[in-house]
Amino acid sequence: MASVVSRGSATLIDLKKGPERLYSGYIFDLDGTVYIGDRLLPGASRTILKLRELGKRVVFATNNPSRDVQMYVDKLAGMGVSVSASDVVTSVSTTTEWLIENEPQAVVFPIGEEALRESLRENGIRTSDEPAEIDIVIASTDRQFDYRKLTIAFRALRRRNGARLICTNTDRVTILADGTCLPAAGAIVAAIEAGAGVKCEVDCGKPGLIMLAAVMRAVGHEPKDCICVGDRLYTDIKMGIDAGMHTALVFTGEATRESLLASPPDQHPTYAFDRIDRLVPVALWEEFGWTELNG
Ligand SMILES: [Mg+2]
Repeated sequence: MASVVSRGSATLIDLKKGPERLYSGYIFDLDGTVYIGDRLLPGASRTILKLRELGKRVVFATNNPSRDVQMYVDKLAGMGVSVSASDVVTSVSTTTEWLIENEPQAVVFPIGEEALRESLRENGIRTSDEPAEIDIVIASTDRQFDYRKLTIAFRALRRRNGARLICTNTDRVTILADGTCLPAAGAIVAAIEAGAGVKCEVDCGKPGLIMLAAVMRAVGHEPKDCICVGDRLYTDIKMGIDAGMHTALVFTGEATRESLLASPPDQHPTYAFDRIDRLVPVALWEEFGWTELNG
């Protein structure tokens, strides 16, 4: 059966089969799950609108540190999906909150995009590019990353009683709208770790506990009543599994049927499908007037 992923004789996941129940909380990844580039993915809009209409809590969680919460609110609004800031958790917001809670007096050196620097400024976090003053180096996606920044981080981390290294997220790649990829925060983290000979201590993105805690606060329901939905096994699905949630993998971004098959069974999602609207039980589709063609 073509729609079933199997390994040997063991059938693992029926790719056409979605949940037969509704959940109280839905946690959606954004890039590759709800949209790619500026294009909503098939079925995304009606899924989000219908779940909300049914009184379900919908939260968006993204590792992408090149935008802040308000930029995601604006982006989704521009695509016809109205959300509020309290519905969105980003690795910029989790990194900023971690600093406020754990290292409020620290002087930080952010290697990142404007959204990260702006969030630090807005929250009164001091920054410096003088290695002797830096308490924390933040590694993130930075399209202006260069040898100068690498050297500042290197010197801050290697000095006596050196700085701590944290990161917004550890994604290795970013997928662009045309399907090509760019190196992401994980590549910057690896460069700094390799040079300075230190390990990043704190990861503020999926699948880590800091992001998970922020997401659970935002969603406000027990993990057993929630489902975590995304296009990556090692971030979205892992976070959901680690939290004890049901999970759904969509094949509209990074993960493929092949990568799912190649992954260990204990990292498999509860569901895997090609369209996000399969999250809504198929028994309800007729009532809503949904077909695969009109999403
Ligand atoms: Mg994604």
